[in-house]
Amino acid sequence: MSVKFGPEYVRALAPYQGGKPIAEVAREFNLEESAIIKLASNENPLGMPASARDAMQKAVAEIGRYPDSNGFDLKAAITRKHNVPSDWITLGNGSNDILELAAHAFVQPGQSVVFSEYAFLVYALATQAAGARAIVTPAQQYGHDLNAMAAAISDDTRLIYIANPNNPTGTFVPGAELEAFLQKVPAHIVVVLDEAYTDYIPAEVRYDAIAWVAKYPNLLVSRTLSKAYGLAGLRIGYAIAQAGVTDLLNRIRQPFNVNSLAQAAAVAALADTAFLRQSAQLNAEGYRQLTQAFETLGLSYLPSFGNFVMVKVGEDNEAGARVNLALLKKGIIVRPLANYGLPQWLRITIGLPEENAAFLDALRTVLK
Ligand SMILES: *Cc1c(COP(=O)(O)O)cnc(C)c1O
Repeated sequence: MSVKFGPEYVRALAPYQGGKPIAEVAREFNLEESAIIKLASNENPLGMPASARDAMQKAVAEIGRYPDSNGFDLKAAITRKHNVPSDWITLGNGSNDILELAAHAFVQPGQSVVFSEYAFLVYALATQAAGARAIVTPAQQYGHDLNAMAAAISDDTRLIYIANPNNPTGTFVPGAELEAFLQKVPAHIVVVLDEAYTDYIPAEVRYDAIAWVAKYPNLLVSRTLSKAYGLAGLRIGYAIAQAGVTDLLNRIRQPFNVNSLAQAAAVAALADTAFLRQSAQLNAEGYRQLTQAFETLGLSYLPSFGNFVMVKVGEDNEAGARVNLALLKKGIIVRPLANYGLPQWLRITIGLPEENAAFLDALRTVLK
């Protein structure tokens, strides 16, 4: 009999599948890396801001030393941006780190966590890794049904995850509905509001969740520099919550979870409002480019508030995998969504105009 290590809930974990790296697709399909276009991981097609590159180059000289465990300079930059005290800030190795820390800090094995069908997959993984029970509520038009989520809360629920906008669906819940939800949630349950795509939300529907943190001691707003700020490879995100919640996250995080280059780059990027504006504008243009083409092709897509669009590429349950493979052979990497229970759909990250055009050309050929 073979020895079994670890608890059953760890053995049953299915590892997160990210977008295929360019180098891997080059090897598998015998393609030149330079000919490959990756629209699979919601990365910023502009890459990193020049301001962040400069800051990192300066910080390289000190790489022999440990990073500042408390992230003094970065917290000061976040304090300036959001007007919150530094004891409301937790830095994370990507906001993924924050999402995981929340599960470990607030939920015991056996207790429950509420999130929506089609919500970001990391919520299910973090829940399971903590030995907790997932309560998954049915989506409404592919988005979060906050009434269903409130109704699903049970006596042992300790955490709720909401992504707004959500990935991979791009769906968006208006601020007024979110705040009405917060008023309903019992005070002992922590609500993680994951705002990874907040910088792409059109101005007319923006809301200010960080202003709600003063009112709701159980609200944790998570942000990342991986998307609109173009720093995905550095792994840097942060949480804003009142001191009670923040204190627990800081107790269980690794002391040096955010490296010194990431801290330096993030300080520069957060101040780079021109880069942020450029990213959002490029994204809005690319969104029009992709969705107009989908309409011409007669393809269904979900209106998206993020830097990606979900498009339906067939009616059978192999459609997503089939079109994905055909696109890979042409050097175009997008994201199939069967692991989200969406096997007819692909998620396309909005790229540069010429990348979007190359993807659309390949898609037209593949669908013929
Ligand atoms: C991309 C993404 C994140 C963050 O990723 P990090 O790179 O770990 O900061 C968080 N939530 C959602 C919904 C995302 O799509």
